[in-house]
Amino acid sequence: MLAWLRQALQQRRENRALQRRPIPEALWQLTLRRFPFLRYRSEADLQALRRMCSVFLDSKEFHGAGGFELRNDVVVAVAAQACLLVLKLGLSCYDRFVGIVLHADAVIAPREQLDDVGVLHRYDEVLAGETMSGGPVMLSWNDVYSAGALENGPAYNVVIHEFAHVLDMRDGMADGLPLLPDPQSQHRWRKVLESEFKRLCRWVDQGMSTAIDPYGCEGLEEFFAVASEAFFVTPLALKGQQPAMYRLLASYYLQDPAENI
Ligand SMILES: [Zn+2]
Repeated sequence: MLAWLRQALQQRRENRALQRRPIPEALWQLTLRRFPFLRYRSEADLQALRRMCSVFLDSKEFHGAGGFELRNDVVVAVAAQACLLVLKLGLSCYDRFVGIVLHADAVIAPREQLDDVGVLHRYDEVLAGETMSGGPVMLSWNDVYSAGALENGPAYNVVIHEFAHVLDMRDGMADGLPLLPDPQSQHRWRKVLESEFKRLCRWVDQGMSTAIDPYGCEGLEEFFAVASEAFFVTPLALKGQQPAMYRLLASYYLQDPAENI
């Protein structure tokens, strides 16, 4: 499609979304107070984020599980944080899914795993959020809400975590490698990601406190998700402790949140 035509259609879609799903000033200010890291950007970028939230709310379908009430402050909290990741990349990064399921609290999921000698283990996993390739994103509102208030320790943010997985899975695989423009970028990404992952695991083994959640040691895909949490929520801590990882994420997200604090 011609670039100007695509741009015109996008503009029309955005204008319609702004009319259908405007975000009132009081609600927007409440969201910025609850999640202060959203403010780590210029006034123009904050306005762009607010507009993007309207388009997001207009194009995605929210479901409240088990009778959970989808208040306006709930859906805007999710939309603002989800849109933050793609503020410069564009909402089309989220085209592969539509549904967002919100639970009041964490979900207990029964799991089964076969170990190396063929013994089946059954256990319960507590989920604050879950993402399936092309499927809905599941979130616990209790975890979404409480993430805004945390100040000490590694960054924790379930919305950023799950939407980082969405970006990671755009190529169909959850491997810590999002869609990148060319093989050189992929090669560079893998090199930095793996060495920063090993660094985190070494520090966690030594009992050091880290900017990135130790949960990142579970695998490269989790490392990308928790490093994204630190990048957006505690950018100065990440930049100070793992600057190469900060730079890698800044080059991908096309944002530099530490610059605007
Ligand atoms: Zn995860």
